[in-house]
Amino acid sequence: MEMFMPPRFVGMSRADFISVVGEFAWKNPKTSVHVHHTWRPNHSQYRGQKTILAMWKYHTQTNGWSDIAQHVSIAPDGTIWSGRNWNAVPASAAGYNTGAFMFETIGDFDKGKDVLQGEQLQSVLTVTATILIAFGLKPWTAVKFHNQMSQKTCPGSSIDRTSFINAVIAKQNELESGIGAFLSPLSRSDGAREALSVLSAAPETDAPDDADASHNAPEDLFNAADGDLDALHVEEPRAAPLAIVAEVQSLAEREVSEDELFAELAFRAQSIGKPDGALEPLSLSEQLTALGLRIFKRLHRELHTVLCGSAESDKYDRDKLRAAFGIGGDAVTAALVGIMTSSLAIAQPVAVIVAAIIIRRLLTPTYLETCAWWGEQLNERVLA
Ligand SMILES: [Zn+2]
Repeated sequence: MEMFMPPRFVGMSRADFISVVGEFAWKNPKTSVHVHHTWRPNHSQYRGQKTILAMWKYHTQTNGWSDIAQHVSIAPDGTIWSGRNWNAVPASAAGYNTGAFMFETIGDFDKGKDVLQGEQLQSVLTVTATILIAFGLKPWTAVKFHNQMSQKTCPGSSIDRTSFINAVIAKQNELESGIGAFLSPLSRSDGAREALSVLSAAPETDAPDDADASHNAPEDLFNAADGDLDALHVEEPRAAPLAIVAEVQSLAEREVSEDELFAELAFRAQSIGKPDGALEPLSLSEQLTALGLRIFKRLHRELHTVLCGSAESDKYDRDKLRAAFGIGGDAVTAALVGIMTSSLAIAQPVAVIVAAIIIRRLLTPTYLETCAWWGEQLNERVLA
């Protein structure tokens, strides 16, 4: 089976989206907002993040683009999914890509098909109005339907441009009258923080100006019912969220001794399943350190067996870590924590400490050398 490390896409609420727009490090002002429907996938084919990953795979592997075409995808339930880096030129409409902020509305809005309404409509209007406000753009000139720039019906023959622009103007008025809520970092939630880091870390490669979101995927490509999505080998990423990656890395870099990390590990392992405050906060006692060392020894050995062993059943996790080594520190950390929590069922707070200790010790960038060196480590301090 073909393996690859898919990028992360994060679902945002409308409030998340607004605060991410306010805090994103924009390099060039946007001059237009491009409105699309996906056509395929349509509403009945939408399966959450899997659908976004399937689009990413189609855009990068079939169309040959550097990333998913669009800056955000708007789901039938109103979720606003992150997409390509917002500083990168999108693959939107041939000849019009530079300066565009592009979104795809998931659905087929040609007459008689899906209907743009409810939460999805509110998110479409909010995304459009927010970008207009953020860059001081005029709705009648800056909002472009794909069908104004190509022969496609996109964003669907049921969407009337005049009514759409009037609804966008109403939404602008609503947003601008909200006291302090607009573009305020104060409203930043975990989801917004995560979306901000994922979007900022995405490749900044521009799409060529002749790239066009031609909505020509095979009719059934995104059809969940006949299993075609699974045939794409798109898997839910099991890597840990960025907040966890940041915690591991800060623990790995901090000027604390390994003994302190062992003590913290013992403390966290004992805390699992107990109510907050049932245990005294971390105090560095020899017993706690010794207990932490025993826990680490066991988990470390288990993890090494999975990742550097040869059992066929562990191949997926091995391939995932091998792929992560080619990508970089964040990916390795995310994969390590993800594998511990999903394959070894280790509680996340404990996995964070184990990963931090391992990351400290991983000085060699190549996978095989690391495995050999790691194996030697098992017989040194760890077994003392
Ligand atoms: Zn389009």
